[in-house]
Amino acid sequence: MFQKLALIGIGLIGSSIARAARLKGLAKTIAISTRKPETLDEARALALGDFYSLDAAEAVRGADLVILCTPVGAYGAVMEQIAGALEPGAILSDVGSVKQHVLKVVGPLVPSGVHFVPGHPIAGTEYSGPASGFPELFVGRWCVLTPEKGVDPVAIDRLTSFWGAMGSNVECMSAEHHDLVLAITSHVPHLVAYNIVGTVADLEADTQSEVIKFSASGFRDFTRIAASDPVMWRDVFLTNRDAVLEMLGRFLEDLAKLQRAVRVGDGPGLEAMFTRTRTVRRSIIDAGQETAAPDFGRPHPGDKAEPAPLSDLVREHGGGDDA
Ligand code: NAP
Repeated sequence: MFQKLALIGIGLIGSSIARAARLKGLAKTIAISTRKPETLDEARALALGDFYSLDAAEAVRGADLVILCTPVGAYGAVMEQIAGALEPGAILSDVGSVKQHVLKVVGPLVPSGVHFVPGHPIAGTEYSGPASGFPELFVGRWCVLTPEKGVDPVAIDRLTSFWGAMGSNVECMSAEHHDLVLAITSHVPHLVAYNIVGTVADLEADTQSEVIKFSASGFRDFTRIAASDPVMWRDVFLTNRDAVLEMLGRFLEDLAKLQRAVRVGDGPGLEAMFTRTRTVRRSIIDAGQETAAPDFGRPHPGDKAEPAPLSDLVREHGGGDDA
């Protein structure tokens, strides 16, 4: 599909793309660049590509597809390095979890003749680094593309086919719409998880050990989300501030209503609300974005049963993320 794919940043997402592209034969050559020599060595030891360099400009030279896979906060610095080395006609994309900021920071640095098609795979886990990726990460997950008006439709089609070949469903939308939707489906939930786990971390030591001991009761699921990469999530909240504050405002209003229902003992109100939310989960399962297996199909220590099928594990991983 492509002669040379250049991946700048080779953590969870970059290494998953490298693995999937290799498995599906989507690029003749895969070039990898990252910031730290030890990360590049790890990528080399895992045989994720064909060419490795700490110099991002060297990696993108001659590439017909370049994907930025670093935390969003690094995009400006990366673009300064690579802009002059991008080939005319190449497609430049990314995987960042916010999109308006990416258009603002990267857009002005894209040389004419290069097709800029920002992207965001709605898939991930709470793990980081080259060893954490796996080729099935994108299977059955959405990938959102947010090209601006006037971008060459052929470039959009080629990138759509690339993500489709890695197993994703692809949808195009505006960067603004993407950021608003992701603020409520991903960014605010992460903020809530970070907050709950942070509250526990501040509890006195004896209460804390009880919380850890009895954590199966809901808290545990928050800890998984709150274990997500601190740098990536710092950048998400720094760069999608307006949409996050808008959705957080609505969330807090609704939380105040729930607080009142609990205080006044409004049983019917609570039950009606919880019944409504249950149907949301059912519709996510019906849409194939979650497994209906109890406890997300997770195997537990001491389970005698067969391990969960790969498709369930992939969904579990995929459901983690940032997504
Ligand atoms: P990750 O596992 O932490 O990997 C980040 C990679 O970027 C590493 O190879 C890191 O290498 C490199 N890097 C960091 N700062 C750099 C810099 N200044 N210059 C060059 N390379 C740099 O992160 P990830 O989870 O793959 O996330 C990468 C991107 O994907 C982010 O933009 C994130 O928003 C997006 N995303 C993440 C998820 C998710 O669930 N994790 C889901 C969808 C999209 P060094 O070790 O060399 O610094």
